[in-house]
Amino acid sequence: MRSAWGAAPVLHDLGGALERFSTQALWFYGALVLLEAALELRGKTRFYRLWDTLCSIATGLGYTAVQVLMRGVFFGAIFFASQFAPWSFETTPLTFVVCYLAVDFAFYWHHRVLHEVRLGWAAHVVHHSSTQYNLGATALRQSVFEALYEPWFYVPLALLGFEPLAIMLALQINITYMFWPHTQQIGRLPRWFEAVFVTPSHHRVHHAKNLPYLDKNYGGTFILWDKLFGTFAQEREAPEFGVLTPIRSANPLTVTFASWGALLRDLRHTPGLGNKVQLLLRPPGWAPEGRGLTTRQMQAAGVRTEGAPLA
Ligand SMILES: [Zn+2]
Repeated sequence: MRSAWGAAPVLHDLGGALERFSTQALWFYGALVLLEAALELRGKTRFYRLWDTLCSIATGLGYTAVQVLMRGVFFGAIFFASQFAPWSFETTPLTFVVCYLAVDFAFYWHHRVLHEVRLGWAAHVVHHSSTQYNLGATALRQSVFEALYEPWFYVPLALLGFEPLAIMLALQINITYMFWPHTQQIGRLPRWFEAVFVTPSHHRVHHAKNLPYLDKNYGGTFILWDKLFGTFAQEREAPEFGVLTPIRSANPLTVTFASWGALLRDLRHTPGLGNKVQLLLRPPGWAPEGRGLTTRQMQAAGVRTEGAPLA
């Protein structure tokens, strides 16, 4: 149907825009990494480690390759779902903004599932496994398994009537936005910006293993979802980057598969089919008969690791 959003111009060639944006994003990533590395060379900070960075680049290349391969599956799935939408929106600047908000909302829950469901964490832990925090070592570090999960969280948006290519373009822009907050070179930004958008300060909290920071700040572009759903934390103490169970390796294969090995071992040692299914679907740390300890249980028990005061 003709958009009910008025006579705004219809955006054509979404496929071309998606291709152009995906390619230009790679240049954007490279330019920002070089800029951050140059700042590091000029300044006193030493946030980069060579092998850690090379490991991240290797995993990032693997993730990107699988993501590109999955693009056809993604498009096919959302195109199929869009057949069942009760209405459809032509993509205008205004409907695209609404689509972007919907994609960002879906990203919040996608990211939350990656953290709070063991099957998700087995993949996403790779992104959190570096003890460094910078654009080269952290932002690029991704598991190939994440690229397999990713599309399915956005297929339901097609049922809301957004064009499949508009959803894919909005997701690509969202993923690109999430790159730049992975830095320690930027402190706090103006209050109005910190109130609305995900910033480096918010995302440092997300990547820290300080107990009050765990499972916080899941947002992609907008921090509003965390404030709405009770997962927001302000950066108050110096973040210690990494995960509670560290993967001590710079080998991209070890980094990618260590969590799956641990999951298989836990599955073997968990009795009963029902418990095994729960192990896969419950948060990391869960074990039957209360033998495990999840992040929320640790936080509720007041167990905490003290971080240093924020400089
Ligand atoms: Zn995360």
